[in-house]
Amino acid sequence: MEKLQMYINGSWVSGSSNESMLVINPANGDVLAEVPRGSEKDINLAVQSARTAFESDEWQQFKPYERGKLIYNMAEKIRENKDELARLETLDVGKPLTQAHADVEAAARYFEYYAGVADKILGETIPIEYGILDYTVREPVGVTAHIIPWNYPIQITSRSVAAAIVTGNAVVVKPAEDTPLTALKLAELFDETSLPKGILNIVIGYGYDAGAYLSSHPDIDHITFTGSVDTGTKVMAAAAKNAVPVTLELGGKSPNIVFADCDQDLALTWVVKSIIQNAGQTCSAGSRLLIEEEIKEQFLDKVVIRMSELKVGPGMDDPDIGPILSKKQFDRICTFMKLAEKEGVSILTGGKGVAIPGHEGGYYFSPTVLDHVDVTSELAQEELFGPVLSVFPFQTEQEAIQLANNTNYGLVTGVWTKDVSRAHRVASKVRSGQVFINNYGAGGGIQMPFGGYKKSGFGREKGLEALRNYTQLKNIALKYDG
Ligand code: NAD
Repeated sequence: MEKLQMYINGSWVSGSSNESMLVINPANGDVLAEVPRGSEKDINLAVQSARTAFESDEWQQFKPYERGKLIYNMAEKIRENKDELARLETLDVGKPLTQAHADVEAAARYFEYYAGVADKILGETIPIEYGILDYTVREPVGVTAHIIPWNYPIQITSRSVAAAIVTGNAVVVKPAEDTPLTALKLAELFDETSLPKGILNIVIGYGYDAGAYLSSHPDIDHITFTGSVDTGTKVMAAAAKNAVPVTLELGGKSPNIVFADCDQDLALTWVVKSIIQNAGQTCSAGSRLLIEEEIKEQFLDKVVIRMSELKVGPGMDDPDIGPILSKKQFDRICTFMKLAEKEGVSILTGGKGVAIPGHEGGYYFSPTVLDHVDVTSELAQEELFGPVLSVFPFQTEQEAIQLANNTNYGLVTGVWTKDVSRAHRVASKVRSGQVFINNYGAGGGIQMPFGGYKKSGFGREKGLEALRNYTQLKNIALKYDG
């Protein structure tokens, strides 16, 4: 078992409490590593290091293009180490190796993408009157905190850290307690670049102490939080006490709206893919299938066949569906299944745990399709975070839109139709941060702003839009005559 350390002020440290936490392999319950349990003291040290590094002449005089080169260098290092990073992500999160490789490539792409913007963050000149030169500059916000969930650790760490560092901030990252391994490996790779010490700090710890300390710290300038609605609201409340802005990337209950005129083979592929990716433990999972009544029976038959043929197993064997992260998450899914039974829902396939010989310590769940779910049921409203698809028929376009908007979430919507006018009409009426027409996820979407409507959060990550999180606008007016 490996004993790992945290990364603060350019050094590997054991943490001040001498307490540790175990990182578990979801595939079999084995212990993968022992990591320090970060405390308030470690958070203080990390924030202080970031502040000092941010204000240092070295970082202030780092030329934008040099920041870009550094960030680009990280993309190269990630690719050089892609096999190890993917292996670590699979061991830590449980996801199939192919999906972990896709996540590692996405992480490299975030660094590559943001590297290019380093020296293109422009201001404006604003016409006022003769004798006054008015202009704006975008400056870094200062010390940014990044609180990361367990389901896509390398991607989510990379997307916000790359954008924050390239814009000149100093960062403190708190990975999820369950899955800290790839964040620590990223720190190791950063350590090989010319990044000044203190610009990147990684503190491992539980959410309720290390995470809570970080979000209530008075000396941070911005928080990017990705996780559940419950925790997001706590983070926001803590940040509000210090008037610190937050970007909240929260959960979803995203629909795929399938109209009878669509390319059904294509829709079928993505309806299944979008709910089984990472065993359904994905914020943007397509967890609701809204299907036009006239094709419901034939389409659903195919969905059920596809779902029941999927291979479930340990991520290292590269199946279609890996284990659920933990017993806690597994039990949560089982509670929803009990509710399904109680509410008389039709379980068309799956609905139960799967035993994988030789991996008895892991928690595996069968791909599941639920029909006749009441639209007001928690099954229709809440994020299950498992490979569970709920089906809702509709007869008219208006009904489809109503169903799509009928949850508190609004992260992603998939629309499947060959009718271009209808596609645009529906896209304009659904309340979600992203709409995909005849595709879902569009291959990663590094460049596309991503974030939620309603309880799915606010602020946007990814794309150029994310740069707003990590910069603040200064207006300067110079009177030179008159
Ligand atoms: P979570 O809210 O339990 O934890 C997220 C992070 O917050 C972890 O690092 C955790 O340690 C920390 N945390 C917990 N309590 C805290 C507190 N009181 N103060 C500060 N930090 C605290 O979420 P999770 O279970 O790790 O992740 C799953 C959730 O994340 C799902 O709801 C999913 O939809 C969402 N998610 C959203 C996106 C997105 O981009 N919108 C991406 C991935 C996951």
